[in-house]
Amino acid sequence: MFKRMLIANRGEIAVRIVRACHDRGITPILLCAEVDRASLAARLADEVYSVSGGGPRDIYLDIPGVIRAARAVNADCLHPGYGFLSENPLLSAACAEAGITFIGPSADAIRLLGNKNAARQQMIASGVPVVPGSDGPIADLETAQREAERIGYPVLIKASNGGGGRGMRRVTSSAQLRDAFFSARSEAQAAFGSGDVYMERYIARPRHVEMQIAVDVHGNAVYLFERECSVQRRFQKMIEEAPSPALDDETRRKMGEAAVRGAVSIGYHNLGTFEFLVDEERNFYFLEVNTRLQVEHPVTEQITGVDLVCLQIDIAAGLPLPFKQEEVRFGEWAFEARITCENVFANFVPDPGRVEYVEFPQGPGVRVDGQIFPGAVIPPYFDSLMCKLIVRGRTREEARMRMLRALDEFIIAGVHSSLPFHRWAFRQEAFAKGDLSTHFLEEQDWDGFVRAHGGKGSPEEIARMAAALAVLGLKMPE
Ligand code: ADP
Ligand code: ADP
Ligand code: MG
Repeated sequence: MFKRMLIANRGEIAVRIVRACHDRGITPILLCAEVDRASLAARLADEVYSVSGGGPRDIYLDIPGVIRAARAVNADCLHPGYGFLSENPLLSAACAEAGITFIGPSADAIRLLGNKNAARQQMIASGVPVVPGSDGPIADLETAQREAERIGYPVLIKASNGGGGRGMRRVTSSAQLRDAFFSARSEAQAAFGSGDVYMERYIARPRHVEMQIAVDVHGNAVYLFERECSVQRRFQKMIEEAPSPALDDETRRKMGEAAVRGAVSIGYHNLGTFEFLVDEERNFYFLEVNTRLQVEHPVTEQITGVDLVCLQIDIAAGLPLPFKQEEVRFGEWAFEARITCENVFANFVPDPGRVEYVEFPQGPGVRVDGQIFPGAVIPPYFDSLMCKLIVRGRTREEARMRMLRALDEFIIAGVHSSLPFHRWAFRQEAFAKGDLSTHFLEEQDWDGFVRAHGGKGSPEEIARMAAALAVLGLKMPE
């Protein structure tokens, strides 16, 4: 087993990885920018490798710097977390060259799957159903027009190297195609360093359902069931759950087997996530593979009892999977709410700053994975995720009620948080019924809720929060 791990990440996921190291008896060493010196991850890690100078994000994106740090601290392995360099094949390759084990797939696998269009072609070859779309990158407007006619409007133009919900353009008619095509290309070039785009049919009212897979280096591969991530805003996930209320056992098995087949076809190893869209007839279509730990991995952990970060480490260390497919089971239901520092009543504008006070929910079935504590400062340079509230229950409804209870117990003062949004979402009747789609916010009219309450939460919620904060001598956020 490894002795010393360099964690090349920050925020809540760095905290999560530190915890896994401690659970496995590995010394966690945190790569740390100056702005993160007082972070929870820095406090919990056994050692911190601080880098000063440069921009606050630079050290988390600098491959030679990361390798220098790993060498300097004598690390035998490196965990990239999510975001930053996690899906950059050059980091995996640089680790291999330096003799440091990268906790993740090979550079070749990351490279192939990082190009969504190439990944699509690979999945087609492996018999995995994909969203109907173009056969390759779209070189020019004429091809775009021809393909759009063939696929049928509405279509979605997507960046081959895209991610994070960016670089997509929905096109409903040929009149819009020209502008959408060229603006998607230039946005893709600016954001992802490549102007390659491809086209998919725009699936109406889809659900986002993804399969967690794990493959060891001995030829064993399993799926650890699905997560539903349909509640999104601007193509970004806000709430996740496992299992999905949309799948039956048969669809679950087919989707799981498709994901495993796709992974095995390219010699993939370690953990990965196969994302699919599911339409109203329960057909599923491959979207992309995320070759890393997923933000929402805890819901899978809650229902299967498998520690996914420890599993990543074990696979990287060459251990065989500790279970066969038929031994992976799930009981219970789990939800995750991404608690961000955003003003949900002002278009979700980020509101970084000092967390004056925080009181976490506790009690049966509640887990919080996060980076905040009273006095924590959320810097403005990174994403706005403060923590993830995860609950489980024996049934979906039990878990939902627990989520509502936990959300009501949760107090965060000093910065705006997404708690009011989550309190609203989990209360919607459609949510309770499991009737979800990627258009949940529009369908349930979140904007209407905001307008109806004058750009604030419900009066009951405001009164309750104000009372709780008054006891603590704190004021409500403006
Ligand atoms: P998940 O499915 O794990 O939630 P997300 O798409 O939300 O994945 O991305 C996880 C993290 O990685 C987020 O912090 C997101 O901003 C970042 N991220 C994902 N893809 C990219 C990309 N291509 N460029 C920059 N950041 C990305
Ligand atoms: P990213 O790399 O940014 O995560 P994805 O391909 O995974 O991009 O898509 C992100 C989200 O965009 C999906 O969860 C879904 O909400 C939406 N989306 C992507 N492709 C389609 C499509 N063909 N039809 C409808 N919605 C789509
Ligand atoms: Mg995706």
